[in-house]
Amino acid sequence: MKHAIVSDIHSNLEALDAALGTVSADCDLWCLGDIVGYGPQPNECIALIRERASACVLGNHDVAAIDDHGLEYFNAMARDALEYTQRVLTPENAAWLDGLPYELRLDNELLVHGAPVTYFEYIFDKGAARRAFEATDARIVFVGHTHVAEYWTLEPDGSIGHQHMQFPGSLTLDDGKRYIVDVGSVGQPRDLNRDASHVVYDPDERSVRWERTPYEIGRVQEKIEQAHLPSILARRLAAGR
Ligand code: ZN
Repeated sequence: MKHAIVSDIHSNLEALDAALGTVSADCDLWCLGDIVGYGPQPNECIALIRERASACVLGNHDVAAIDDHGLEYFNAMARDALEYTQRVLTPENAAWLDGLPYELRLDNELLVHGAPVTYFEYIFDKGAARRAFEATDARIVFVGHTHVAEYWTLEPDGSIGHQHMQFPGSLTLDDGKRYIVDVGSVGQPRDLNRDASHVVYDPDERSVRWERTPYEIGRVQEKIEQAHLPSILARRLAAGR
């Protein structure tokens, strides 16, 4: 079975709709968290993920929406958006978020928002990638959190490899290596490509494919304005950063 994997949707329904529109009905869906925060439609995005995903883990914005956890690390615009999220989030959706795990171990795979064990650490460099490999024995770790589509490898000689994947492309998995796959962000990409990012993982074919899907950014920008969210949150969608 193939798995589409999404992360960092951030209440951007247009982007989520567009990304899922490319995923075939027989494809299973995993979500790596941050369904909410920043954007205008948290409930609608949660509803889609609840309906479609077989596995989902918590992101830092999801946790903050539930109980203010980590809010002191948020910048002013993230905090504004979080207050909006808490205002509109239905009790039922908040309870659903509250029931999600921080990480999920499958056979060979680990699903976590930021990094194994230290859930919300950012993997931005080879040192962080090495710590992440050392923290788990999973062959392949799927993460989001940085909003940058890329992957890290632990090579047979112990060195760390790195590749940006901000355009569509595939990775063939090698038995001798371990992988950290950053699926990028659906709803607020920051790798200078404004199109929604997700991956399709095929364990049988031993491949990961990064996809980018254009969506109606102008429509989301209007909704951000209508919700009185900070206008920079609308502008950055068009810039992809
Ligand atoms: Zn995020």
